[in-house]
Amino acid sequence: MSALVLFSGGQDSTACLAWALSRFDAVQTIGFDYGQRHKVELECRPRILARFRADFPEWGKKLGQDHVLDLGVLNEVSETALTRETEITLQKNGLPNTFVPGRNLLFFTLAAALAYRQGLSHLVGGMCETDFSGYPDCRDATLKALEKAIYLGMDRKFVLETPLMRLDKAATWQLAEELGGAALVELIRLETHSCYRGERGHPHEWGYGCGTCPACDLRRKGYENYRKLAA
Ligand code: ZN
Repeated sequence: MSALVLFSGGQDSTACLAWALSRFDAVQTIGFDYGQRHKVELECRPRILARFRADFPEWGKKLGQDHVLDLGVLNEVSETALTRETEITLQKNGLPNTFVPGRNLLFFTLAAALAYRQGLSHLVGGMCETDFSGYPDCRDATLKALEKAIYLGMDRKFVLETPLMRLDKAATWQLAEELGGAALVELIRLETHSCYRGERGHPHEWGYGCGTCPACDLRRKGYENYRKLAA
């Protein structure tokens, strides 16, 4: 039983990495460089992996190769606030302009191609349809259909695992606590990155970030709810 985790360096994918390490015998990670406005999230990745190895030796033994793929081509087909210096706003269709159309379809398909070559059986992603963003490529139905398409197109069965699909942000913190105790919560709080503006000046109770962009807002509320539930 082996897995490839879509690992961005954010809160959700780090929780997914812990989830995978608690279940599978061998785990590899994959990240995508698509010219994110701020490289901060990508820079967090190696630090988080090093902390997993140092602080959770049982998990560290299972943690294999890390892959980073260049997806700069995404810049050529989309114009979004994730990769351009424009203000983050809600569009007419209700999606924030940080939305990159079909991004998760590409991510999972490329992950499957790599997993095929590496002989890995499960693909793990932090997609979630509970929170506000409503990205159509995060929906469970979308990913179930993609799992089938990959099976038909590659003639090999990969299980697409999305352990956060039904969880809200507070429940994701709770999951981290269950998997790795206070040490993992603290690692996620201080080492992962969510802020769209790439702000990592000084830590808030919920971690680093500007505190006002949609990603920070979601992260702060989730952490506050988690603390309330724990109290
Ligand atoms: Zn922010």
